[in-house]
Amino acid sequence: MTSPFRRSVAEHQDAIEALLSPGLRTLGSEPVALDDALGRTLASDLVAPRALPPWDNSQMDGYAVHSGGLGTGPLQVVAPIAAGQTAPALERGTAAPIMTGAPMPVGSNTVVPIEAAVPDAFPTEHQIAAGFKVKLPGSSAEGAYVRTLGSDIAEGAVVVKAGTRLGPTALGLLAGLGVETVEVLAAPRVLLLSTGDELVAPGAQLGPGQIHDANTTLLRECLRTAGCQVDTAGVLDDSSEHFSRSLASALAAREQEYQLVLSSGGISKGAFDVVKEVLAGHGIGFGSVAMQPGGPQGAGTLALPGTSPVPFIALPGNPVSAYVSFEMFLRPVLAAVLGLPTRIQTTATLTEYLDSLEGKVQIRRGTFANGGFTPLGGASSHLLAALAASNAFLLIDENTTTLPAGSDVQVLIIGDGS
Ligand code: AMP
Ligand code: MG
Repeated sequence: MTSPFRRSVAEHQDAIEALLSPGLRTLGSEPVALDDALGRTLASDLVAPRALPPWDNSQMDGYAVHSGGLGTGPLQVVAPIAAGQTAPALERGTAAPIMTGAPMPVGSNTVVPIEAAVPDAFPTEHQIAAGFKVKLPGSSAEGAYVRTLGSDIAEGAVVVKAGTRLGPTALGLLAGLGVETVEVLAAPRVLLLSTGDELVAPGAQLGPGQIHDANTTLLRECLRTAGCQVDTAGVLDDSSEHFSRSLASALAAREQEYQLVLSSGGISKGAFDVVKEVLAGHGIGFGSVAMQPGGPQGAGTLALPGTSPVPFIALPGNPVSAYVSFEMFLRPVLAAVLGLPTRIQTTATLTEYLDSLEGKVQIRRGTFANGGFTPLGGASSHLLAALAASNAFLLIDENTTTLPAGSDVQVLIIGDGS
């Protein structure tokens, strides 16, 4: 058993990175259909199997002509070219009605938009058959309104880099290239558990002194939105014997596969801090990080008799502490491996006076809007409603104890869903 650690935020971030990264960096990959690829991380560079556009095509509804044939009087109109058709070669001195996305006929090199033609409406089939002529401007730059082959993507170009998290636009690009399946990183598998005799699952009747377990849902969704696959063990109770047994059996189910076991609760200085009691002797270090909320922390490689070693992170139980801890310590490591967008940091004007603890980074929750940051709720770590209404963190450094209204501060945007 090691003595309790005392770490700065940066030191604990480094410790968590060192604990998790090696396992996460060796995740295998798997092919998934485009339909199932949203939010997954591309395992290797994706090379364009073909050029886009695959051929020169019109950017406008108009007339395909050769620029050399303009300025010599009205042009004979030939059969129109719709998107999805191929057209015969265009003879010099003629003009082919062409629709947006239709391939440019051989012999043409420019498009005159219909709006610039006289008349400015396309002739009917009947009119064309009767020898319809159109007046077009005397000149048009070669290539005007033509989308040339490969102007979007060259065949063989790397279009999405390995490590990119696939969102709607990347998937749209792959679909546009005709790609049907992609090789993505296997999702990190996490075993998640809550601890506390007072906790019951949402939906269950509350007995005296009981509350509902918020953290299983909160942390499960944090992990899922960060690209992990989560198994939940539910609530483990505060007796050492029960906790050990439940943990061992939850692990035994798929012990080889977990990249992380994440717990909440049971690690502070109380009398029933079961996670600390049981796991301090099995490879997990406990201590405090100079941060509020989220001061008590535990982390290490769990080595229970009869199970394979697995990274274990023990978060404090208050829901806000657990969430802040996830954002500060876990998400950055997952973000680096799984290509999650990094949290945006921006300057804001503090709308009201705040004070803070000396010697700790205080993380206040609130709303960032129109350049201002408005704290919601107080510093207390049980304020779940204020957290849910917040979209930003304000990190107050350990040397700052007061912040007047109107102060320029740096805030971190923590939007849901990413
Ligand atoms: P602990 O870290 O176990 O001492 O818990 C600190 C506080 O957080 C206590 O008020 C607990 O009741 C509360 N808490 C712990 N775990 C959860 C949970 N999963 N959901 C809601 N509240 C919790
Ligand atoms: Mg507890």
